[in-house]
Amino acid sequence: MKTYNMKNGFKLTRSYLDELEQQGLSELEIADRLGITRMGLFKIRRKMNWPQRMRSDKGKYRVDPEVQRERRNAYMREYAHAKNIKYKTIRVGSKVMSLHRWKAEQVLGRPLKKGEVVHHIDGNRFNNENSNLLICTQEYHIFLHKRMKMKELGLL
Ligand SMILES: [Zn+2]
Repeated sequence: MKTYNMKNGFKLTRSYLDELEQQGLSELEIADRLGITRMGLFKIRRKMNWPQRMRSDKGKYRVDPEVQRERRNAYMREYAHAKNIKYKTIRVGSKVMSLHRWKAEQVLGRPLKKGEVVHHIDGNRFNNENSNLLICTQEYHIFLHKRMKMKELGLL
């Protein structure tokens, strides 16, 4: 069997790489485990004529979708903060509206009435999953935010 002699003396085989892949590790995680960079791993695969992982494999072997979603949300929060964006928006015909309000209207099957507010349950304005949205009155919305603030301060 052909092996690649790594600088640290480790003899890397194709079957060992396959084994790591089957454990569900990403290319970056495999490279980490071997103590090299992802580019280094790419070069070894090329040199040894071992197949490269496809781009789509990255998604397939990604960790937890929850973690991925949180990362994406964190990125969005940062981006929005930098650009002073308050909400995700959607273009409907000629007008632009906030995505959470649009989603609420889709579920209701009618436009939101005056005084109807769409609240983000987890406090993240960029998490517009249906399960994170709550349609309520303005009064109840104020109450919710007071309660959230109190929880944040440890008073609840
Ligand atoms: Zn709210």
